[in-house]
Amino acid sequence: MKILVINSGSSSIKYQLINMEDESVLAKGLVERIGIEGSRLEQELSTGEEFEIKQDIPDHGVGMELVIDTLTDEDKGVISDVSEINAVGHRVVQGGDSFDKSVIVDEKVKKEIDRWASLAPLHNPANLMGIKVCEKLMPEATQVATFDSAFHQSMPEDVYMYALPYELYEKHSIRRYGAHGTSHKFVAEQAAKEMGKDIEDLKIITCHLGNGASVTAVKNGKSYDTSMGLTPLEGLVMGTRCGDIDPAIVPFVMEKEGLSPQEMDHLMNKESGFLGVSGISSDSRDIGEAASNGNKRAQLATNMFVYRVKKYIGSYVAAMNGVDAIVFTAGIGENAIDLRERICNDLDYLGIKVDSERNNVRAKITEINADDSKVKVFIIPTNEELVIARDTKLLMDN
Ligand code: AMP
Repeated sequence: MKILVINSGSSSIKYQLINMEDESVLAKGLVERIGIEGSRLEQELSTGEEFEIKQDIPDHGVGMELVIDTLTDEDKGVISDVSEINAVGHRVVQGGDSFDKSVIVDEKVKKEIDRWASLAPLHNPANLMGIKVCEKLMPEATQVATFDSAFHQSMPEDVYMYALPYELYEKHSIRRYGAHGTSHKFVAEQAAKEMGKDIEDLKIITCHLGNGASVTAVKNGKSYDTSMGLTPLEGLVMGTRCGDIDPAIVPFVMEKEGLSPQEMDHLMNKESGFLGVSGISSDSRDIGEAASNGNKRAQLATNMFVYRVKKYIGSYVAAMNGVDAIVFTAGIGENAIDLRERICNDLDYLGIKVDSERNNVRAKITEINADDSKVKVFIIPTNEELVIARDTKLLMDN
């Protein structure tokens, strides 16, 4: 069985074609700058061979056609006909409380994805567009939707509710939904495997630290709490997002700066975090470099990031009454050796100790805790595409 995994963004389509016999990636690629000057496709094969096609890609339909043409190309392709793709698994960011697992797409599912777009205006419409385009171009293939929010549907009511007037929840579904669920689920399960234990018997804190970042308390294999909320703005300090702030700041700044709701939203989502504090960049590598060259605001941004992650880890140890393992994943979590070490420093009271030498590694499954650490600490590269492909296969098999 061959499954195409699609992550359709507002101006991009990321894809992977996976052979489910051995879960190998036959080809992966990216179509970017859709509808913008300079649009292109890049594809990498399992052999490591890479190539690029530069052409005008005015919309997602043309982009997806190009993906299929490239996958089936006589020279560069990996399949001879589009009918070899049995199913397409789509990443969908927000499924609200309508979906607690992946589903086969039908008209009702598409309506729900559209309904929840108000909470993910940048993502859900693009995800839905990807689904519609694939339905058209691959009518024989089963379309499956995997939701970033689904894993967190297990959060208890007292964890997911905000202490706002209850009517707002009833009228507008305002509550915490979380995100990055596919990643948190994957790395938590992988950590349990590494420990040779049943995930049902474990308390795990997973730190997905990328440009977007969140921490999840995984209790007995289920998400118990997560740092993102109604939207992916809540929680940690991120590339361009502020994370937790006093909500009173919102009307205060809007009044002082004369901002509209949209402008305030932009400020908190796109102009804050690493970028806003440092004034330099949203990328942790740039911030790290500037910080080591003595830039005070870059140092502050890093210190704030580290402190916030540490604070969430501590609060989730309290929330779960213990922790057996901490997992680091995503761009920063997998690669930023110094930040990982700083996050775990001075947590020995909680039984968390990292071994500096073991931690000196990037993007590889590694146990980095010291021998006398009561808590295991792992680096586990995330693989959301594989989760989507596995879920898709499961639905096909059933
Ligand atoms: P992601 O959103 O998971 O792609 O992660 C993006 C973040 O990971 C950016 O802030 C990058 O600076 C960071 N990152 C990626 N590679 C490295 C690396 N080798 N060292 C440090 N940070 C990295």
